[in-house]
Amino acid sequence: MDAEEFRRIGHQLIDWIADYRASVGELSVMSTVEPGSVREQLPPAPPDTPESFDAIMRDMEKIIVPGLSHWQHPNFYGYFPSNGELSSVLGDYLSTGLGVLGLSWQSSPALSELEEVVTDWVRQMVALSAAWSGVIQDTASSSTLVALLCARERTSNYSLARGGLQGEASPLIIYVSTHSHSSVDKAALLAGFGRTNVRAIPTDEHYAMNPMMLENAIQQDIERGLTPCAVVATTGTTTTTALDPVAAIAEVAHRYNLWLHVDAAMAGSAMILPECRWMWEGVEGADSLVLNAHKWLGAAFDCSLYYVRDPEHLVRVMSTNPSYLQSAVDDRVKNLRDWGIPLGRRFRALKLWCLLREQGVEGLQARLRRDLANAQWLTAQIQETPGWRVLAPVALQTLCVRHEPAGLEDEALDRHTLAWAERVNRSGAAYLTPAILEGCWMVRISIGAIPTERTHLEALWTLLQTSTEER
Ligand code: PLP
Repeated sequence: MDAEEFRRIGHQLIDWIADYRASVGELSVMSTVEPGSVREQLPPAPPDTPESFDAIMRDMEKIIVPGLSHWQHPNFYGYFPSNGELSSVLGDYLSTGLGVLGLSWQSSPALSELEEVVTDWVRQMVALSAAWSGVIQDTASSSTLVALLCARERTSNYSLARGGLQGEASPLIIYVSTHSHSSVDKAALLAGFGRTNVRAIPTDEHYAMNPMMLENAIQQDIERGLTPCAVVATTGTTTTTALDPVAAIAEVAHRYNLWLHVDAAMAGSAMILPECRWMWEGVEGADSLVLNAHKWLGAAFDCSLYYVRDPEHLVRVMSTNPSYLQSAVDDRVKNLRDWGIPLGRRFRALKLWCLLREQGVEGLQARLRRDLANAQWLTAQIQETPGWRVLAPVALQTLCVRHEPAGLEDEALDRHTLAWAERVNRSGAAYLTPAILEGCWMVRISIGAIPTERTHLEALWTLLQTSTEER
């Protein structure tokens, strides 16, 4: 494709995306296609001869779009918000269009330096002290893996330079909560700790980690001759947005010299609001933290911000220094390849830069405050209605709810819950995710898509009530 053809089709494509965003509210939120049906409509082998872009776009509309669940839909309440503000989408286009890679500072100096600047802007926005340095990773899953690798190397005094974990005299132990995200477990397993060395600490009545139980578990492990290594606290758990008491956990971590990683993948965005910052009080006592700008904040996926207090340690764990990547300025610049796992990195900072400049801190704060108020409004409606229950504190924008008609319990109640959630999702009018809380099914309503206004929540509340009446 030459530049002129790109210009012509590119304009059409921007129109197509603008139309999609403007009218996405008219589509069924959840895709109802059967498994395999998209694949069946696509040729099993690549085309031998060139095809027109028009033909690609026809298939896009006919085959691909019906196979999508629409995350940017005003009635998307599933999983968590993954907002791609259009300004950020344009930043992502710029990045892809430029096609530059950051292997080292010299391979694209502006890529590295803009990343330094925007991660520092976000640091200020969430009121972290200047002791933190940031880098953009793809996801929280990768960020947490990097954190646990750094924890492993600190506790083992850089065992990677010797026999690795296999050379350690006693197993290293990781502490998470029963409500930590599955990516934390996965990171611990991939970092080589092993399933039997991951302790799931019980939570309190608000689903937050109990720091006394954490300390008990650490002491028991020490008595058994094991080596406590790291604890992962979550600010805003996935199921209920529970808030682990970071300050109390940090105290325990310091007492036993554990690495503390804070997973604020979801709730980190809310820290741009001064009134929410109590939620991660004590965060300055952590060693690393992750905050997904690609969730509620609005940076187009993928844009996970990873902050550390000791960048030298991070670089020592991650660095490789082949001759073809060395340059004369290495002692004066950040080579971001040494700040994470991949060598090649996209120019992700552009989409965050575009978002922050086009919205301004105040614009972002206003949207998040709107969502918090909407969540409180819906909570009040549900709490005031007999037969309905809100099961966990609504600190942020996620509600965990159950419709509990008299006489329905246990498995019958589970069947009722799953049935009405399925009715809502199949209707196409809204998308919710059922999840298990304390052994029973409930329904999560995660508010915060960019176009979601109070009127959408009013319609949702009516829909929930009618969907639960059909039994
Ligand atoms: N941590 C928490 C608390 C989350 O809610 C999520 C996503 O749902 C993750 C981690 C994983 O995020 P990512 O998809 O960026 O790896």
